[in-house]
Amino acid sequence: MKHIYMDYAATTPAAPEVIEAMMPYFRNKPGNPSSIHSMGQEGRDGVEAARAQVASLIRCQPSSVVFTGCGTEADNQAIKGVCIANRERGNHIITTSIEHHAVQYTCEFMKSMGVEVTVVPVDKYGMVDPSDIKKAITNKTLLVSVMHANNEVGTVQPIEEIGKITREAGVYFHVDAVQTFGHLPIDVDKLGIDLLAASGHKLYGPKGVGMLYIRPDTRVAPLLHGGEQEEERRAGTENVPGIVGFGKAIEMAQLGMKKEAEMLTGFRDRLIESILGHVGDTYLNGHPTKRLPNNVNFSFDFIEGESILMYLDAEGICASTGSACSSASSEPSHVLTAMGIPVERARGSLRLTMGKWTTHEEVDKVIEALPRIVAKLREMSPLVKERCGWISYL
Ligand code: PLP
Repeated sequence: MKHIYMDYAATTPAAPEVIEAMMPYFRNKPGNPSSIHSMGQEGRDGVEAARAQVASLIRCQPSSVVFTGCGTEADNQAIKGVCIANRERGNHIITTSIEHHAVQYTCEFMKSMGVEVTVVPVDKYGMVDPSDIKKAITNKTLLVSVMHANNEVGTVQPIEEIGKITREAGVYFHVDAVQTFGHLPIDVDKLGIDLLAASGHKLYGPKGVGMLYIRPDTRVAPLLHGGEQEEERRAGTENVPGIVGFGKAIEMAQLGMKKEAEMLTGFRDRLIESILGHVGDTYLNGHPTKRLPNNVNFSFDFIEGESILMYLDAEGICASTGSACSSASSEPSHVLTAMGIPVERARGSLRLTMGKWTTHEEVDKVIEALPRIVAKLREMSPLVKERCGWISYL
């Protein structure tokens, strides 16, 4: 069966050009970038070219870019690294209720280490109010951590406004941009960002590589101690093929970002309009317009997201109920509950995320299959019988 992949937010397939760019670094350019001989220098050149690509995408100096093993590591280093390196300056961090677990659990860990953590709420669209951030800042605050766009519901946060607030207050601003890096324009100076985390496998690059942008003069301790790689900000031999592939993915994103976003916005809006128009008791989760071009997230009353996933999968459609990292858990999404969505409705959520290789025909297939599957599941649902006695959904 041919699969229809609608889970690009979980991970993107690597582009053929990316794989091609990586291959020489597995085969005939195996040198360690720390070695001073010519083969080592080939590896070094590959890493530095990729660093320049990152810098050009987010408009920073290449020396501000640290390659990591993934987005999670970059988030961990930003939060733990700032708390460790600035202990004498303060003991308070601010974050939001809809962060990815890479940030949420890191903040909880810092709390268990004695750091004070303020979690700012969001509105029904999953949007943070910058004035809540402003109110939460004290003279002990070291860091504000807010994601650029949410991985489950796609809501894009008012980063520039928050950046102005953190600049005025003189506190560091960390942005988890894993879902937007290479998809939405990012200018770290314009947005007032001091630390920015990204990951290779969300923009058609390889898995196992990420990066942390660190503004000059930002005090951040390393997580890994050992060699002097990455200017002593991240020890460990560089993943040269992965970094080179990440660089190639960035180069391609710079060329194709705008066109891809336009195409995906069209697919997204068609999908939303059609499903909301044809399936009753269905809700769009996330902001109606300030959302990622590729993200659709619905809640269907009376049925479980997992059941929808299984039926879609049986027809070759790969989707998700929320974050890939927590979709195996039976707990309702912390993002949806933070938005005030009742637990029952949160359990009926479905995320469809599209990408470069999504086609009109695939979107049409989902538009045909999803209402049929929802109707079938509702026919079987004890919740429908309990609450409505009878109902027609199509
Ligand atoms: N932050 C966000 C918003 C994400 O969506 C993800 C992955 O889904 C991560 C962090 C973690 O990135 P990685 O998988 O590279 O560790």
